[in-house]
Amino acid sequence: MNICQSERKMAAQSLHNDFDSIVIGAGIQGSYTAYHLSKNYKTLLIDQFTLPHSRGSSHGKTRIIRKAYYKAYYTQMMTECYQLWNQLEAEANVELFRQTGLLVLGTEENSEFQTMKSTLIQNKVPTESLTSEEFSRKFPAVNLPKEVSAILDKTAGILYADRALKTVQDLFRRFGGTIRDGEKVVDVQPGSLVTVTTTTGTYRAKNLVITAGPWTNKLLNLVGLQLPLKTLRIVVCYWKEKVPGTYGISKGFPCFLRISRNSNQHHFYGLPSNEYPGLMKVCYHSGSDADPDERDIIFQQPSQDVNFLSDFLSKEFPGLDPKPAIVEYCMYTTTPDQDFILDHHPEHSNIIIGAGFSGHGFKLAPVVGKVLCELSMGKKPSYDLSPFKIHRFRLNLKSSL
Ligand SMILES: Cc1cc2nc3c(=O)[nH]c(=O)nc-3n(C[C@H](O)[C@H](O)[C@H](O)COP(=O)(O)OP(=O)(O)OC[C@H]3O[C@@H](n4cnc5c(N)ncnc54)[C@H](O)[C@@H]3O)c2cc1C
Repeated sequence: MNICQSERKMAAQSLHNDFDSIVIGAGIQGSYTAYHLSKNYKTLLIDQFTLPHSRGSSHGKTRIIRKAYYKAYYTQMMTECYQLWNQLEAEANVELFRQTGLLVLGTEENSEFQTMKSTLIQNKVPTESLTSEEFSRKFPAVNLPKEVSAILDKTAGILYADRALKTVQDLFRRFGGTIRDGEKVVDVQPGSLVTVTTTTGTYRAKNLVITAGPWTNKLLNLVGLQLPLKTLRIVVCYWKEKVPGTYGISKGFPCFLRISRNSNQHHFYGLPSNEYPGLMKVCYHSGSDADPDERDIIFQQPSQDVNFLSDFLSKEFPGLDPKPAIVEYCMYTTTPDQDFILDHHPEHSNIIIGAGFSGHGFKLAPVVGKVLCELSMGKKPSYDLSPFKIHRFRLNLKSSL
């Protein structure tokens, strides 16, 4: 090869590896961001694992979608999320959402239950309050303690998570986006063009979005930033119905959110039996600290979270065998206030961070992706992002950068 040919080859290679935007992390947040970007910009989406994989936070068959939130800004974002999920279903001609409703169960003295109720009402979300007689008539297989009230968010339901993730990635490719999976990002060099090096290649872009789920701080270490994120190992349990179908989707059983029964406990939530026939998914909204790379180490002791769940189910869902039939694992990445982080890197404005989805981010991914796309393109975000800013925390910036 003469000098001219080799220069032409290098120029072609560099054009091939130059993008408007690079997104690191092909979970639901990164994939949705890349989907929005790819409609107008040359976009690369990178993941360390071959897709699909079950090592992060976006795998599994189902997630709950709801408007019931005690922080009104999430309820307000959900209006557009529902529209964008519908749009995605139409673009790909697949079913991603099934409406079931969601029962919010809690005591009237509980401030979270009260605020959730008033947020639903103030935002004119279709709801139904059930008296204890109405509740027992409609849901005879639930033993609701007499001090517990019930309100139904009628808009809520199930998102088919694995299918949704694949759909977003398929459409991203259809719009001209490039996916490089099985490539771990090992270096990021900030600059007006950000250079990203993976285990197999080097890429450059005008801006970079980091949506690395529980690996976020490992990646941010490369760009001199650490955020107050905790990574938790969550047990995902399925429980056998003593009589198949008792809590079945086909019998109209809804999703539920049981606000914590006492101050030492977190919430319980569940979905009607559907994905595995005769099994109902009920989980505890917390877990134990874990490094995402060590999530699947088998522990000798039964998890305390499974014990909490067994105890709760034997009291309030007597139609379930209180011993889990299936246990799977997933990761939460939580912030101290449970609010997301959607912001620019404090020192490198063309590096955007989407993190800390605190176990409730899947349903909001269409709007999260939209605002991360807007931030990376220097546009005014469609929503007030003040609850999601990095400066609400005391920053740990490395002076070496
Ligand atoms: C058990 C459970 C139940 C949940 N239930 C609900 C629910 O009912 N409703 C709801 O709305 N939300 C729910 N969530 C939360 C929701 O699933 C998460 O908020 C969401 O999936 C987070 O997505 P993510 O893209 O931020 O992270 P992830 O899915 O973890 O994606 C991050 C990606 O980054 C990649 N990555 C990391 N480091 C690198 C690197 N160095 N190089 C390349 N790639 C890298 C990873 O491989 C990974 O694919 C639940 C979560 C769990 C665990």
